[in-house]
Amino acid sequence: MSKPALEDAVREQLQAYVDRNPLSSQRQVRAAKAMPGGNTRSILHFDPFPLAFERGEGAFLWSLDGHRYADFLGEFTAGLYGHSEQAILDALRATLERGLSFGGVNDLEPRLAELICARFPSLDLVRFTNSGTEANLMALALAVATTGRRKVLAFRGGYHGGVLTFGETPSPVTVPHEWVLADYDDVAGTRDLLREHGRELAAVLVEPMLGSGGCVPASQEFLEMLRAETSETGTVLIFDEVMTSRLSPGGLQQVTGVLPDLTTLGKYLGGGLSFGAFGGRADLMAAFDPTRPGALFHAGTFNNNVLTMSAGIAGLEQVLDDATLYDVNERGDRLRLALDAVARPAGLHVSGRGSLMTTHAGPPPYLPAAPLSREHALVKELVFFALLERGFWLARRGMVTVSIPVTDALCGELVAAFEDVVGTYQDVLL
Ligand code: PMP
Repeated sequence: MSKPALEDAVREQLQAYVDRNPLSSQRQVRAAKAMPGGNTRSILHFDPFPLAFERGEGAFLWSLDGHRYADFLGEFTAGLYGHSEQAILDALRATLERGLSFGGVNDLEPRLAELICARFPSLDLVRFTNSGTEANLMALALAVATTGRRKVLAFRGGYHGGVLTFGETPSPVTVPHEWVLADYDDVAGTRDLLREHGRELAAVLVEPMLGSGGCVPASQEFLEMLRAETSETGTVLIFDEVMTSRLSPGGLQQVTGVLPDLTTLGKYLGGGLSFGAFGGRADLMAAFDPTRPGALFHAGTFNNNVLTMSAGIAGLEQVLDDATLYDVNERGDRLRLALDAVARPAGLHVSGRGSLMTTHAGPPPYLPAAPLSREHALVKELVFFALLERGFWLARRGMVTVSIPVTDALCGELVAAFEDVVGTYQDVLL
């Protein structure tokens, strides 16, 4: 790989991006006057300025500058239903007619709770939050409160929300639990740590496939080991299925048959609106039962907001039948294999499962928590901007998701565009 040539190619792509997107550039200047770096959601920033969107429809987005993009980001998995699913829009319109913000319970939250408990095998009872982050915070709080222990084992490269982020070490804004960090999918190393800390561990917090950390699936052996060891010590096993719950009707826990004590959820289950949920074993969740003396308190003004509740119900009742979800994930598997076949000869690869995948700038194996080399960072930048120029929106870090309105034909277009990018830059990539 020739680094100067790679740097030149990136520079050219960046210039093309600047030239094509003057309104996004102007928006950034304005935004920076009222928000640090013009940003209120760190992941959405990239240099020289983030692309700004005006509207979405089906599988497409239109930018402020009037360009159309095929949406292969799918709002980091929350956009499973696409941008204009009629059942969801109709439910929202009908709900709006009944008014907002009741400050009381409503007839919608029990329905959504029933639907969600019925889907996920380990969920006896569930509570709602406003985000996946909050769901994880509450699940951890529950584990600490019910076990009376302070330590939590999590994984390098794991992401459970902005305040629950782990690289080689916890991020500076990660909440101060007593963290013990293990390497993801490392059966022997993790088992050793679990045995070493044993009955001091309140919880193990794990994604059954790393999502933001690079779409790295865990082995069956790893998940089974976590289940066996935590059962032994009375440690609460928490599966963060905020992303992976869409990989089958009952999430990855259904596929693997490994059932956690608590599960956290979010994203598409709120129909595309702010959402999170945590739930699991009835005896653990009972700690929040307000009819019991000494119950734990779990608050949140918008936990049962009628818009999220109705959009979530409409999605699960009217759109997301099992066949549709299997289809989306099979389409994702085909897309991943096709992208990977293009990527490998150029020294790249694509990992993931079902409708979730990430393109990596080097050959396998991908090491989740290792810092990217300068070359790999440049390759990622080049591929991202080159695909953007060709009309495809995906995560800056290379994550791709397949949403319901994304057709096989559109997947084919992405593969062709990726082939074109790899062909164009063959000499600088290798
Ligand atoms: N857990 C996982 C696995 C996630 O991917 C995310 C979000 N990307 C979260 C938790 C946090 O969810 P939210 O952004 O809704 O707070």
